[in-house]
Amino acid sequence: MTTHRTFETFERIPYQRPDYDAFVAEWKRLLDEFRTATNPEEQSVLLETMNQLRIALDTAATIVSIRHSCDTSDQFYAAEQEYMDTVRPLIAEHVNDLYRALISSPFRAELEQKWGAQLFRIAEMSIRCQSPEVIPLLQRENQLATEYQKLLASAEIVFDGKTLNLSSIAPYLQHTDRAVRRAASEAKWNFFRAHADELDRLYDELVRVRTEIAQRLGYRTFTELGYMRMLRSDYTAADVARYREYVLRHIVPIAIKLRQRQAKRLGLEQLTFYDEPLQYRSGNPTPKGDPDWIIAQARSMYAEMSAETDEFFRLMEQRRLMDLLTRPKKATGGYCTFLGAYGVPFIFANFNGTAHDVDVLTHEFGHAFQCYSSRHHRAPEYWFPTYEACEIHSMSMEFFAWPWIKRFFREDEDKYQFQHLSGALLFLPYAVLVDEFQHQVYDHPDDDAS
Ligand SMILES: [Zn+2]
Repeated sequence: MTTHRTFETFERIPYQRPDYDAFVAEWKRLLDEFRTATNPEEQSVLLETMNQLRIALDTAATIVSIRHSCDTSDQFYAAEQEYMDTVRPLIAEHVNDLYRALISSPFRAELEQKWGAQLFRIAEMSIRCQSPEVIPLLQRENQLATEYQKLLASAEIVFDGKTLNLSSIAPYLQHTDRAVRRAASEAKWNFFRAHADELDRLYDELVRVRTEIAQRLGYRTFTELGYMRMLRSDYTAADVARYREYVLRHIVPIAIKLRQRQAKRLGLEQLTFYDEPLQYRSGNPTPKGDPDWIIAQARSMYAEMSAETDEFFRLMEQRRLMDLLTRPKKATGGYCTFLGAYGVPFIFANFNGTAHDVDVLTHEFGHAFQCYSSRHHRAPEYWFPTYEACEIHSMSMEFFAWPWIKRFFREDEDKYQFQHLSGALLFLPYAVLVDEFQHQVYDHPDDDAS
């Protein structure tokens, strides 16, 4: 059984910058032993020891990224994030040394038997994702991503006498009064307009840096490397293009009908971009209580869903492993991550009083429950089942919540379920569009943002 570190609550987990040099010295010593080991059992034991070393370091980096995203204005964690942005590609290179030793092990067959073939597929893909030569570029890529996160978190949109961020403006974007919707939408996009130069610079530089990394590694474009990074071991860009065609043929006609029905419900000839967020003339369904009340409903739902979800939700609450409310300077969006050394996930969200609060809570709880259920795996590579498969668990959990959804939405139950289901369909054309756009951008990296 894997032993995890004990802790009281997330905020009481101590953080100290890891001793990188000590890690490297120990890692190299163990790797030499691994290479010269004379039997598979010995290699397995060494692999476990090395995994523990890695997990300790990864956990420190995860704590930094969580605390930084919860408050991007915290100077201490901003500096630690900068440090991690620099050191992570270096660590990944050391891990790749282990991967190279692993796939060329004379005992590969026995190791595959014990650790699973997927670990070897991941190892083979990971070593194709970087080389010592591109480390400075990877560090630059990390910095740019952090800069982008900080920029979006910095949004202060003055609207309706309040200072809002990109999350808390959402209720106004789906307001029943069309003039309010339109004004809120303008206020939101004015933030992007005001920072257009900076956003364009970040985007252009990211595309350039990624293209350079890809080309130095021998790929034609970043797209191939992107697939490798996402550990897509069994399908290619050609398969995705085919999937896009299916969406066009089968889903787009449904999406068009859904939008036509929405326009009719709203009494509008045609929907514009600022009408799309509003589903019903009487208003979108909203949770019928404040964030504490939503959490209480979730607690009772998970208590009834299963013994496992009951125990797990209580753990997440007691250990304070959820940061759900939106605040100034908090990063946008929602995510779930895993603290390997402690064997627990962390959920991050930006509640804003819309139905999305329930979507994001159930979605991220699905991810969290999946990785918590995988915590016994001794290979950290198996905690998440790779990106696309991850969404099976999170999307399913959104729908597992349906029998209890009345608790959150009361009289709006039907409105919520229709919106949720149509939202899942409407998302598909949007997602493949964004995905195709990215393929295009990386195929033509010399085009500039304008
Ligand atoms: Zn997800």
